Amino acid sequence: MKGWNGQLLRVDLSKQKAGVQTYDVKLARNFLGGRGFAVKLLWDELRSGVDALSPENKLLFVAGPLSGFLLPSSGKLVVAAKSPLTGGYGDGNIGTVLTVQLRRAGYDGVIIEGRAKKPVYVWINDGKTEILDAGDLWGLRSFKTEKEIEARHGKTVGMLSIGPAGENLVKFANIVSQQGRAGGRPGMGTVMGSKNLKAVAAKGTNEVPAADPNALKRFGTDALREILKKPNYKFWKRQGTMATIEWSQENSVLPTNNFREGVFDEAESIGGFQMEKMKVSNRGCPNCNMTCGNVIKDSTNGPSELDYENVAMLGSNIGLGRLKEVASLNRLADDWGIDTISLGNAIGFAMEARERKLLDYDLEWGDLDKAKALAEDIVYRRGIGNTLAEGTKFASEKLGGDASDWAMHVKGLELSGYDCHVAPGMALSYGTCSIGAHHKDAWIISWEVSFGRESYAEAKVDKIIELQRIRGGIFECLTTCRLPWIELGFELDWYPKFLRAATGENLTMHDLIVIADRVLNLARAFWIREYQKRWSTAMDNPPPRWFKGPLTRGPFKGKALDREKYHSMLQLYYAKKGWDKRGIPKQITLEKLGLPDVAQELLRYVRLTQ
Ligand code: SF4
Repeated sequence: MKGWNGQLLRVDLSKQKAGVQTYDVKLARNFLGGRGFAVKLLWDELRSGVDALSPENKLLFVAGPLSGFLLPSSGKLVVAAKSPLTGGYGDGNIGTVLTVQLRRAGYDGVIIEGRAKKPVYVWINDGKTEILDAGDLWGLRSFKTEKEIEARHGKTVGMLSIGPAGENLVKFANIVSQQGRAGGRPGMGTVMGSKNLKAVAAKGTNEVPAADPNALKRFGTDALREILKKPNYKFWKRQGTMATIEWSQENSVLPTNNFREGVFDEAESIGGFQMEKMKVSNRGCPNCNMTCGNVIKDSTNGPSELDYENVAMLGSNIGLGRLKEVASLNRLADDWGIDTISLGNAIGFAMEARERKLLDYDLEWGDLDKAKALAEDIVYRRGIGNTLAEGTKFASEKLGGDASDWAMHVKGLELSGYDCHVAPGMALSYGTCSIGAHHKDAWIISWEVSFGRESYAEAKVDKIIELQRIRGGIFECLTTCRLPWIELGFELDWYPKFLRAATGENLTMHDLIVIADRVLNLARAFWIREYQKRWSTAMDNPPPRWFKGPLTRGPFKGKALDREKYHSMLQLYYAKKGWDKRGIPKQITLEKLGLPDVAQELLRYVRLTQ
């Protein structure tokens, strides 16, 4: 095999053993890598109903076939497991040097199984893997952990680690790398903590074998040059995703006060131009010349890496209108290893609960110190923090009353940063994303705003399916970043060329779309297998607030989503996907995608439509 190493590293923490497993080229051809491998391996190796925090759950780190080569923005790694937050399929991607080092060490992925008796970290040094004592690292925040591991194994190693949030099994703990790149929103850091695994570090010194190294080198050089020439490149380098704050405010989709509104009075002071005045440097993922992490010097806690999502969720969504303060909370969250998007939801939810007198806790919209105190209580599971640490869905059920109406999540995963009172397409995208409410599979909002945001047209359903295939399928499997394509218009045609040079496989864009469909259907099947009779179309609904509580401010004052029209769109989406009226893939759909065994397994739990 070329391009793929053809090897996975399996680490059993219960038995304190590591072993190499080769895999068949069929896995590579049918699932490509990254999310594709992750969902296939989790489907094959987990039993239905497994406790996500038990040793039986598995945690996967998977690279794609382009990782480790000098190709644009190819430094992502997928982290995946059954999610302790949602109970369904969970994953995330992180830009990390670990993906490059892992591939150079000869592996395309790592499967972590079991649970260590005491804290450990895994050290992969080319062909040698050790499970080492992490007793002295346990309790450290993630940035300090990284420094300690660098001191032991050298500055060039790639690594992932968890902070106290993962150790304390906060259900939306994530995994951190390179002092501020983080991923695994649906509790991938929690699963890592449940395994007593503090970190994974790797160093590899071999070349990843390529089918046509000369062509690959030429494509890489040309593609990186082409990105530099894109008209929007200079502005992107200045602001990255931060320009979206102003855009969202202008279009009334900036989440404000727990997604109650889409406009925020202090948007300008947390926006891209304000950020430019405070920025000290850019940071990015390996092999990327778009380096979109905007680093702000925060005198209290150290440098903080800002992007749209963390500023929207820890800024406007909790009423915080001073960028320096947002940066300070963001830095702490990264250091604690807690997901900034879900944290912004949890704090916003608690602030609203306090306002509605459902919660007795000293909180105020826009008060940094009180927000920090609550965040710390969540991380260390103190008082109400212990309840919020279980996720906003759980907290709303515990508080009772009408709290579930304004708990902002889908399937238990808190919403990322776009208000959808007047954006049915984006609401449907959240409703049908493979991991719960996240924008990564189909970020349709900007297209939707120019198309006609109040429309429930079929074209929106088509666009969501197209975006989910490209973003949630192709990019997540290749583990290359989607931003060159989305933000700068870097053409998709490059990717089959890269793949051909790397692997020798002649996969067309159509072939890649079929793989994407296979992967997305398998992720759906994973949810169905977990939820069985508890599964219903209601799981694909956005939060009730967007139907019931119209906006009270801004250009769309008085508007909200139409429940009936949303449901018609959802049914149309199911039909186009080859799913039945319950949102369950039909038997024939699975068979056409080469997943007859998946259909047979699902038949054990639910009735399938032919
Ligand atoms: S564009 Fe940003 S997120 Fe994407 S690879 Fe580059 S630095 Fe990472």
